[in-house]
Amino acid sequence: MADRIPYIAANWKMHKTAAEAAEFVESLLPRITATENDVVLCPPYTALGEVIERSRGSGVRVAAQNMHEAESGAFTGEVSAPMLLEIGVEAVVLGHSERRQHFGETDKALAHKVPAALAAGLEPILCVGETEEARDAGQTEGVLERQLQSDLAAVEPAELARIVVAYEPIWAIGTGRTATPEQAQEAIAFARDVLRGRGGDADAVRILYGGSVKPANAGELMAQPDIDGALVGGASLEPGDFAAIVEAA
Ligand code: PEP
Repeated sequence: MADRIPYIAANWKMHKTAAEAAEFVESLLPRITATENDVVLCPPYTALGEVIERSRGSGVRVAAQNMHEAESGAFTGEVSAPMLLEIGVEAVVLGHSERRQHFGETDKALAHKVPAALAAGLEPILCVGETEEARDAGQTEGVLERQLQSDLAAVEPAELARIVVAYEPIWAIGTGRTATPEQAQEAIAFARDVLRGRGGDADAVRILYGGSVKPANAGELMAQPDIDGALVGGASLEPGDFAAIVEAA
């Protein structure tokens, strides 16, 4: 890995009440005091405040799992970047495949959300990745190229290094089927090449792998030269497992 600080993010999806989240943070923090890696927790909206309070001063940062691109407006059920910033959120997951699949998140919307997050001062964690059918049809690179070019279309080259990208092959998310380190490295190196083609400092961009990362496979995945960390779903729900992944980076 170049001089990129490893970045490990916990995507809790729709898991943990605020009380459960508080318990998690109390258990996690003493286990990761020695880490110099970037550690980010992505709880549901209702637990954001609790996690921010409990992790204050620890170096752990907090991300939301989505946001709307507008600052305010008639968008019932949505939350904006200024609302997240106000309570101390520092980053936001955008374009997770579950939002693309189940909630109609489009590349068109993401082309607005990514620059809106940057403009507000939030760090976007942009998720991209192919379906199993696309991989079998040899379309992995085409999918990654299309998603990255569309979602980052309005991002200035000078801003690129402020973005974190997560390569998450859909067939590996929540399935227990992890991409091999070689598959993940190949896709992530390709994604970095796409970023390079956009100008800006692509070598400074942290690109994570996500998809059934566990303590047992985290080390070999993150040892690959272009893999700068992990976006962890299921294994991030248990503090011991998540701490072990943080330590493996
Ligand atoms: C995710 O939710 O982004 C994810 C990668 O989930 P899991 O680790 O459970 O596959």
